[in-house]
Amino acid sequence: RRQTDPILQLENINVSFDGFKALTNLSLNIGVGELRCVIGPNGAGKTTLMDVITGKTKPQSGRVFYDQRTDLTKLDPVRIAQSGIGRKFQKPTVFEALTVFENLEIAQKTNKSVWACLRAKMNSEQRDRIDEMLGTLRLAAERHRLAGLLSHGQKQFLEIGMLLVQEPHLLLLDEPAAGMTDAETEYTAELFKQLAGKHSLMVVEHDMGFVETIADHVTVLHQGQVLAEGSLREVQANEQVIDVYLGR
Ligand code: ADP
Repeated sequence: RRQTDPILQLENINVSFDGFKALTNLSLNIGVGELRCVIGPNGAGKTTLMDVITGKTKPQSGRVFYDQRTDLTKLDPVRIAQSGIGRKFQKPTVFEALTVFENLEIAQKTNKSVWACLRAKMNSEQRDRIDEMLGTLRLAAERHRLAGLLSHGQKQFLEIGMLLVQEPHLLLLDEPAAGMTDAETEYTAELFKQLAGKHSLMVVEHDMGFVETIADHVTVLHQGQVLAEGSLREVQANEQVIDVYLGR
């Protein structure tokens, strides 16, 4: 993969729910290694967009090309996840009754069946990878703690780690900084910038300060369409965007 190639190409996506158009002729490209922020008011279609990419919602028309080859609209959600697309929902979902280490261990084996997963011994390389991940997540001291006892922000980091140990090419993150402390938000931004390049990231975020720190490129959605695209500075200066956000 070259940095300039698209990892994801959405072409003329239409989604309607009982006649209500959630996405209208939406086209959007994400480059390999890019860190893209998607913003837009409530109801703009951001969640629906993620649902289309992950196969949860099938569009009435349009196509989603992944890695310039695979049409994701033809695959079920499991196959899409297995092809290297990881998604994080807004609320952290970790296994609360397992330790931090065990959460990462299970995530690393998700391609196996439950039984195979329980039986499989970790090799030293897999163990090292988890140790390294614990450092990256700033959770090394918490490795034997039950995940349910972590703070909200730490759970968010753990879940990001659970995605990363699966080595995804594309990460979709829904408001990752929601509910984090300022220090955690700052570190999340730092982490995402480190991940970009090796991974491609699409981040839905409301916190403009966070968007400003991380994104090279911002897409503004409004009423199921792309209203503007460019640097945050560019889209913030866009008259239509100002109208939508200020409700003029
Ligand atoms: P956002 O994530 O930007 O807030 P959504 O993608 O959740 O926006 O929703 C876009 C629009 O589609 C909203 O008006 C929402 O009410 C509608 N919508 C989303 N999912 C469904 C559904 N399953 N059935 C009916 N309407 C839906």
